[in-house]
Amino acid sequence: MYCNGMSEKRRIAVYPGSFDPPTYGHVDIIKRSLPLFDKVIIAVLENPSKTTALFTPNERVNMLKEILTETNGTKLITFKGLLVDCMSNFGANVIIRGLRFVSDFEYEMQMALMNHSLDARVETVFMVARPERTFVSSSLVKEVAKLGRDISPFVPPPVAKALKEKFAI
Ligand code: ADP
Repeated sequence: MYCNGMSEKRRIAVYPGSFDPPTYGHVDIIKRSLPLFDKVIIAVLENPSKTTALFTPNERVNMLKEILTETNGTKLITFKGLLVDCMSNFGANVIIRGLRFVSDFEYEMQMALMNHSLDARVETVFMVARPERTFVSSSLVKEVAKLGRDISPFVPPPVAKALKEKFAI
């Protein structure tokens, strides 16, 4: 069941997303996942077809690196293509996703079922967003930053700085 010749059962989870850019909502899910797993791999989707991305995959990884510098038990990767295909390289069989609203649920449920049918070893774990973070999304944060308002309550300092530079505020 476990790859890379691992004999002991380690709980390795993957938290995939666009992280364009990372927000306190993402950070909250990562921090709450850490006590549940031996390792949480944060997988930044490169997705070359997503032309709307504000930050390059490298920029997104670098922001996450800065944010998670003091956080043990995480690993950062980028991926393209099917997530389940790269999970076995890391011995991971759990996908973590955050749920904010009921509207997230329909798509997330479909993805979870598809991923499980592509690889029966893969399970998806949903973490319910903290009420004070439910309205925080990468896309809204970008909109608000673009319009010149302060987004520091919603994103860690390195992200606030990067957004300011992008929009030359
Ligand atoms: P994707 O494009 O894959 O949805 P995102 O970077 O937007 O990538 O989100 C990655 C994951 O983080 C998703 O499961 C999403 O529901 C979750 N997420 C995003 N914002 C929040 C938040 N404020 N609170 C909790 N979970 C969140």
